[in-house]
Formats: sequence, C-alpha cells, structure tokens
Amino acid sequence: MSLEDVELEGLANAEAPHLITDLPGPNAQEVLDRDARVTSPSLPRVYEFVPKRGSGSVVEDVDGNIFLDLNAGIAVTSTGHCHPRVVEAIQEQAAELIHYSASDFFLPIYSEVAERLDEIAPMSGPVRSFLTNSGTEAVEAGMKLARWATGRQYIIAFYNSFHGRSYGSVSLTASKASYRAGFGPLLPGVLHAYYGDGRDMHMAPGSAEDGFPTIDYIEHFLFRKMVSPLEVAAIFVEPILGEGGYIVPPDGWLIALRDLCDRHGILLACDEVQCGMGRTGKMWAVEHMGVEPDILLAGKGIASGMPLGAMIAKGEKMTWTIGTHGSTYGGNAVSCAAALATIDVIREEHLLENAAKVGDVLLHGLRDLQERNERIREVRGLALMIGVELPDHHTMIAVEQAAFRRGLLALGCGESTIRMSPALVFREDQARAALGIFEGALADAENAGS
Ligand code: PLP
Repeated sequence: MSLEDVELEGLANAEAPHLITDLPGPNAQEVLDRDARVTSPSLPRVYEFVPKRGSGSVVEDVDGNIFLDLNAGIAVTSTGHCHPRVVEAIQEQAAELIHYSASDFFLPIYSEVAERLDEIAPMSGPVRSFLTNSGTEAVEAGMKLARWATGRQYIIAFYNSFHGRSYGSVSLTASKASYRAGFGPLLPGVLHAYYGDGRDMHMAPGSAEDGFPTIDYIEHFLFRKMVSPLEVAAIFVEPILGEGGYIVPPDGWLIALRDLCDRHGILLACDEVQCGMGRTGKMWAVEHMGVEPDILLAGKGIASGMPLGAMIAKGEKMTWTIGTHGSTYGGNAVSCAAALATIDVIREEHLLENAAKVGDVLLHGLRDLQERNERIREVRGLALMIGVELPDHHTMIAVEQAAFRRGLLALGCGESTIRMSPALVFREDQARAALGIFEGALADAENAGS
C-alpha cells in the first residue's frame, strides 16, 4: 500500500517503522540544505529527522518513511500526534477567535483553563494560574512570584536540572555548561545543591529514616556558609530530572525537601514541565511522592503540542498585584482550546492508566534486556518516563543514531542516558516493537565499534 493512501488517523496504525529510502532521503536532504543556510546555528539538532505528519505514536517524514516515536516531540504530544479531539478543538477555536490578549481583557477560555488546572492541581487548597507560551516563561513567572511573595532574593536549584534557556531559567539550569557558556553574567542570587541520591558526587544516597546527605548539604553547608535561609525565596526542583538524565530521586527525598522549606519559610517550586501531565501515570509526578508544592510549573504536554505553559500557585501565595506580570500571547485562545481537549482526553480515554500499563511493559522489557546486555547500566523511571543508562556519552550517541537508522525515534539526555518519553497513547504492541528495535540498535552501535 502506498503511504499516500493512508489517512492521517490510519497512520497511527500503520506498520512502524517502515523505511523506504536511505536516511536522509532526497526530500529530507533538500530541507537540511535550506535549513543549514538560513536557520540559527544554535539549534541543537540531534539526527536528520524531517517530520511531515504524525498520528498517535507514528510519524512520517517528508520522504514517506514511517517512524515509531518514543520522543513525542520531546515529551510534548501527550495525547499522541494530532489526536482528533485536540485537532477539532483547535480548528473550532481558530475559526471563532485566534487571539485577544488575556493580560488586558477577559478571555473566557483563559479562566476556563485556569479553573481546570485548579481541579487537577496537586495542591489541597485553591490555586491560581498564570498562563505562558512555554516552559521557560512559566519558570520565569515562578521566580518572579517567589521573590515578590516572600520579599526574599535568593533561589536554590539543583545540579543536573533543566529549567529552560531564558536568562532567569538558564540561571537555574545546571545540566550542561554549554547552556551557560558565553552568556554570563547570569542572574545573581542563584545557588545550586546536589540532587536526590547525590550520585554525581558519589555521596552515600541516605534514606528517609537516616536523612539524605544532599538535604544536609543545603542545611549544613549552604545555609551556614553561603546564604541565610531567611533570604531564600524558593527552591526550584524537578520531581524527576528530565534533560539531566531521567533520574528519579530516592523515596522520601522530596518530602525531606518540603520539610526543609517549611522549617525556613521557603517556597517549594516543582517544575513539572517534563514529568507532568500524565507522563508518570499520575497527572503530576509529585502525586507519587506525597508532597504539595507551593508553585507548580507546567508546559510541554499540557496542550498536546500547542504552545502553552502554566505557573500554578497556591492562592494565598499569588500575592502580586495588578500590572506586576503579564504577557501578550500567554494563554492564547487556540492553545487554551488544545489544553482543555488534552485534559478531557487524558481523563476520558484513561491515558494515565494506559501510561502506567504500557510503561510497565517497556520498563520490564528493558530490565530483561539489561540482563542480556551488560552495556545497559541502569533502567529507571515511572510509567512513560524511562531512562536507559549506557556506559558513556559516545555509546549513547551511537545508540540514538542507530535507533534512528532503524526507524525508532529516541533521544539522549544527561551524560549517557537514552530517554523514552512516548505519547500517553503508546500501545503495548508498539512497546514490544520498540524493545526489539532498541536491542538491534544496541547491537548496531556495538558492531560499529562504540
Ligand atoms: N523545565 C523543564 C523540566 C523542561 O524539561 C523544559 C524543557 O525541556 C523547560 C523547563 C523549558 O521549557 P521550554 O523549552 O518550553 O521553554
């Protein structure tokens, strides 16, 4: 069957992967040539994938090659590519009203989204939301609110974390020096601590009963030598590290961090831009951890691919006054329509349950593979947020490339981890297919000498 005969929705069920040209194919090569002439050289392209259309967890490139997608547009297309209900909501809203700045006027769909976020937020009391166009803007808004609400200046973030690339958020980001190099000075008043089990510092992991050395470091080093806790506005933390390596902190760690914040009147800001919106089998990753943040940052999967982010804060913390913060496009009407449809689809089509079930298949399959393949150092994650740790960076790049050549889209993160973050509609048969291809990609990388 020619791929042109496959309707978009049918694409989700097409045999994937199915490659019909070398990669990149001739049409892809044309795009690559143009792109190399005219786009910003800062863009961190990973492999020569040139997408044209997608449905569910299947994407077709400009040459008609079909790929199985473990990226979901980097953890964005939560309901799958072009979910029909999301597409319909976008089309209806676009035909009715594309934009009217919600900062200056009362766009109804903006408060509708805020009301839905209030329903699903992992905080017990009422929350308010400030909507943005991206994750980094949600982080910026959170940083500004934290300073405003506490009257304190300092912010603590973690090594290996990623919070974005604009000046405030990149000052928190500490997953790669290249995000910062050449751009200093960054925002003053930001300090960094060690994440979770302190694995990068070869710290003893500690436990909920005996205490965590990484929390002690904040209390007994930062607060004694670097900053008074009375001057710390907030601690920004990813409940599960995303870009920094898909690392899940030990049980009880986030609770210990919450306690530390409470002892010193510091706000806890949880960045769920990557791990939120159902990726871990619950709407928010903090729901696994028994912690309520003061500020929650959402993005990526919130609108299935339309640009939207949210800075959600406990009502009593949203103390800033009229005119202190706003945005022309933030909470754009079409993005808001996509967000409402996304939340409905996640709930009504039981995508949290699906993420947990299919994530289990993937996780167990990878752990079986680990027993047969000593190059897999660790398999970790929750539901559809899975990291496969390889021996080194070079091997990670080789496996990422080999998977692409076999038609499987996956992406590295951290120093040496392959991340798997498929759409929440990912199916068991697709998980099994992905496992087989991934095993082949590991062998290809080994045969190629890495
Ligand atoms: N926070 C986290 C945890 C992220 O993973 C990202 C993006 O990868 C961001 C913030 C920044 O989001 P954006 O790229 O939409 O600005």
